[in-house]
Amino acid sequence: MNVIKFGGSSLASGKQLKKVLAIIKENPNRKIVVVSAPGKRSSEDDKVTDLLIDLGTAALKGLNVEDELALVLSRYQAISKELGLESSIIDQIESNLLLLTKGNKDKADYYMDAFKASGEDNNAKLIAAYFNKEGVPARYVNPKDAGLYVSDEPGNAQILPESYANLYMLREIKEIVIFPGFFGYTKTGEICTFSRGGSDITGAILANGVQASLYENFTDVDAIFAANPTVVMNPCGIKELTYREMRELSYAGFSVLHDEALYPAFKKGIPVQIKNTNNPKALGTSILKKRQLSDQGVVGIASSNGFCSIYIEKYLMNREVGFGRRVLEILEDQKVSYEHMPSGIDDLTIILRDNQLSKEDETRLLKRLKNELSADSVVIERELALIMIVGEGMQQKIGTMSKAATAFAENNINIDMINQGASEVSVMFGIAAAQEELAVKALYHAFFE
Ligand code: ASP
Repeated sequence: MNVIKFGGSSLASGKQLKKVLAIIKENPNRKIVVVSAPGKRSSEDDKVTDLLIDLGTAALKGLNVEDELALVLSRYQAISKELGLESSIIDQIESNLLLLTKGNKDKADYYMDAFKASGEDNNAKLIAAYFNKEGVPARYVNPKDAGLYVSDEPGNAQILPESYANLYMLREIKEIVIFPGFFGYTKTGEICTFSRGGSDITGAILANGVQASLYENFTDVDAIFAANPTVVMNPCGIKELTYREMRELSYAGFSVLHDEALYPAFKKGIPVQIKNTNNPKALGTSILKKRQLSDQGVVGIASSNGFCSIYIEKYLMNREVGFGRRVLEILEDQKVSYEHMPSGIDDLTIILRDNQLSKEDETRLLKRLKNELSADSVVIERELALIMIVGEGMQQKIGTMSKAATAFAENNINIDMINQGASEVSVMFGIAAAQEELAVKALYHAFFE
């Protein structure tokens, strides 16, 4: 049995839904279908989730929501018309949205999450109606009825482990299951969504729950590329990746999959296949627990900006018991989470996300680090980008670092920081954000051309 998830661009119009149906019909193992809300039809278009956020925000403020409601409905109407569905499906969606406007406004986060989740929920109902009309027996299943329970964290829910056993029951359903992605229910019956892009997470959760033999994730690219195609012209596609490689790449900016999405599938060792709805014949990318390592040490290059580094220097730091703990306590106390902490004998650097520190937070944090640790110097650098080269094969390969360093040097890029993860699956370079694109191009040229 396969779990198959379609992203927003695969469901953005009637034309796209026809492709989806053809893909389902092609393989009888495709039994459980997880769907996003309709996404963008073109780069200027809006995602239905964003339109729903506008609608929810206006309703929460008690404003007239006629325009926002009409925009959301028009998206479903266009799809329904293209597919020749009965108008009752649109009436149902309209009454559902009107009901949501009457929700409890004292709990604003939950109120908004109910709007956001309705994008996938109503889409799943519409898609089930379409499949049935085309003679493919399908059943919409609500996450509450399936026992998909999540933590009480609106906008950032986590799966509760008991859900997996409940979801196993989905195997019993004879029809094709159409399951809305992106949300679950708390134990007290509130809707809570995962973080944005979270339908991928639902897909992986279901794959784990029903013990699928494959989790197919259909999107709008032929494969995961070795580098960002908006930076590098026609980068090569990656045939196979391990879970660890994928995790590292998506952490550092590969946006094909939500970066937490694979964990539930990974825990059960379920292979994941990335495919293109618009070109289902393309091989796509397989993400596996283990893969045959080829001669190519580096499989992908990722980059991400919006980081800063705090450099702390203190003579004899290596001899001072508890120094690291005190640094972390100060960070915890300031409610700052750090990403990496490469260290030397008398110094260490903390890399964190820039948006966590306002100017005042920064002043306070630097002062505390300097005074409470009696540090010799504490220096912050903003506008840092992290560039990562990723590949399990790097462990065995001699000369990877020299190749990367040469590429930086030849392009006049100064490396502020290097961190080779303990697992040796990735090497990370901190550089000035202004040189991010240049660095990705230089590394791609060195490793792939
Ligand atoms: N519709 C949601 C979003 O836009 C979830 C998803 O598409 O995966 O974030």
